[in-house]
Amino acid sequence: MNTDKKKILVVEDEHIIALEIQERLEDLGYHVTDSVRSKEAAIQSTQSNRPDLVLMDIMLGDEMGGLDAAEYIHEHYDIPVVFLTAYSDKQTLTRAKRAEPYGYILKPLDEREVSSSIEISLYKHEMEKKLKANEEWLSTTLNCIGDAVITTDRKGSIVSMNPGAEKLTGWSQKEGIGKNINMVFHITNDNETEWVNDPVGTVLNTGKPVSLTNNTLLIAKNGKKIPIDDNAAPIRDDRGKLNGVVLVFRNITEKKQMEEQLRQACKMDAIGALAGGVAHDFNNILTAIRGTTELILPDLAQQSNLYQFIQQIQDSADQAADLTRKLLVFSCNKPMSFEVLDLNVLIKNMTNMIRRLIGEHIKIKESLLQDLCSVKADKGTLEQILLNMSMNARDAMPEGGTLTIETKHVTISEKQSSLSTEARPGHFVCLSITDTGVGMHKKTLERIFEPFFTTKKHDKGTGLGLAVIFGIVKEHNGWIEVKSKPATGTTFNIYFEAVPKHPDIETNKELPIQSLKGNGERILFVEDDKKVRTFMEKALIKNNFITFAAANVKEAMEVFDKENGSFDLVFSDVELSGESGVELVETLLAKKPDIHILLTSGYPEYSSKWSDIQKKAYPLLEKPYTMVALLQKIRTAMKTKI
Ligand code: ADP
Ligand code: MG
Repeated sequence: MNTDKKKILVVEDEHIIALEIQERLEDLGYHVTDSVRSKEAAIQSTQSNRPDLVLMDIMLGDEMGGLDAAEYIHEHYDIPVVFLTAYSDKQTLTRAKRAEPYGYILKPLDEREVSSSIEISLYKHEMEKKLKANEEWLSTTLNCIGDAVITTDRKGSIVSMNPGAEKLTGWSQKEGIGKNINMVFHITNDNETEWVNDPVGTVLNTGKPVSLTNNTLLIAKNGKKIPIDDNAAPIRDDRGKLNGVVLVFRNITEKKQMEEQLRQACKMDAIGALAGGVAHDFNNILTAIRGTTELILPDLAQQSNLYQFIQQIQDSADQAADLTRKLLVFSCNKPMSFEVLDLNVLIKNMTNMIRRLIGEHIKIKESLLQDLCSVKADKGTLEQILLNMSMNARDAMPEGGTLTIETKHVTISEKQSSLSTEARPGHFVCLSITDTGVGMHKKTLERIFEPFFTTKKHDKGTGLGLAVIFGIVKEHNGWIEVKSKPATGTTFNIYFEAVPKHPDIETNKELPIQSLKGNGERILFVEDDKKVRTFMEKALIKNNFITFAAANVKEAMEVFDKENGSFDLVFSDVELSGESGVELVETLLAKKPDIHILLTSGYPEYSSKWSDIQKKAYPLLEKPYTMVALLQKIRTAMKTKI
């Protein structure tokens, strides 16, 4: 059998005619797969033989069964049907149209008519198939791409919308088709003052592609504004005639957020670098101011005006020190360094700053457990948690209220831990921050830790606070629990693993200065800042230490050698005008291994020797410090073996 021959099924109830048709078709070069008499047989044969065309008598027996069969074949097999009919009355033809026939051949048959009808039908069907495949390909492509695509005709009426466009605009293709593009693609500008060009109109007027200006917002059907990127281009036929416009746009919310985040990160980096650079010098100045006032105060009568003034200076220096610290905390520039610390001390040191930050209309209550276990934590980031939580509480209490900061021990059993996904059994220190503010609904609660989730006005909230806190707490191996009730308030419980109290942790209980004085111990004191050096030397001497001051590494070495290394403690700044205090103490330790060391710095993490300081665990005192803190630290350092 010649496979090139087109296969034709003949459906004809009159046997003689059927035979005649078959003969003619074969003469014309077609292959007749079958010749059947009923509609059922027609359908069955179509199914099993898959002819290229069906030649169908409309009248099968007394009924117009051919029409039913043709409708079925058209619908199920996509095979062209050509009707054979002796009747060309209007009613028959109207019904026949429903089966979408590819042609009619009137009986009695004319050979030329048969041949041309069949050829035209086959060609038409082939073309339709190709067209359909192209359309499908195009529509699948449009459905699959993430971008939104809308096409319009020459008048700007919508011709098609892909699912991306439906999703972004909120209009379904069914609703949108035929509507003017400006009804569905409704845009405005970020600052709403700038004129937004209608991109489709522009393309129709100029015939040239356009891109949208920056900061375009699409107003979706539900009124939601979505930042988009977009361009529009003319659709031309093969003779170059403008037939319409294709508009492609996409949601750039995420991109914008990333840009914002990057900008924020760059800003933070800049602030961090600046703060780090300034903090070192600034803390030297503060140490001098703070220290000088401490030297003067004991010589003055407490009732005197001068005493009050000097105390004022001291308070201002404390505030300035808080400020430097705040800058450093916010810049996030400090690398995480875990140490065993007392949460109560940390909170007490932060209270002043928190008070200033949240304003006077909010009361602060502290309920700190005595003899609280320590936690292993990074001080800077814990401070960040306290500050951020306090600011959230402030924002939740615009009319005022109470902020309660509480610390307590919590022991979690195996059974209790199974009730929560985060909790695990063990002993924990719990930091609770409670406000009496607006509280949160369940829907808000579910999302508060998402980055960029905020319910605050544009310039008030970034939605990053809790996301960052979440990350920090996780890095501490802890977890956060939130309880909130609208109009009542919110409690955040943060759990940290409890560690036994370290004997060396400085408690905030200030020992009387008298008990901290020295006993004639010999200190080599190295400090490049002249102001600090001068007053500290005096202060140490006043506190019963035999003190030798040096301004740089060379001087320190000279003094050390001259005194045969007979020092109990080397107290040195980390940064010595370009030289390293860490290298100095290492040299001295090599000469005299049992010497005690105390380092000081305004911003130790900024030093290139920070990792050495951490590795060797040198006792370290951060500037600015109070006299009491210094004396306490000297005591600990004298007990610490390097
Ligand atoms: P931001 O403060 O910038 O909005 P956050 O991540 O700190 O970002 O907080 C996210 C959201 O959680 C806030 O916008 C607010 O809706 C809610 N939230 C956080 N803390 C509280 C609180 N103490 N009381 C009520 N709502 C809060
Ligand atoms: Mg916040």
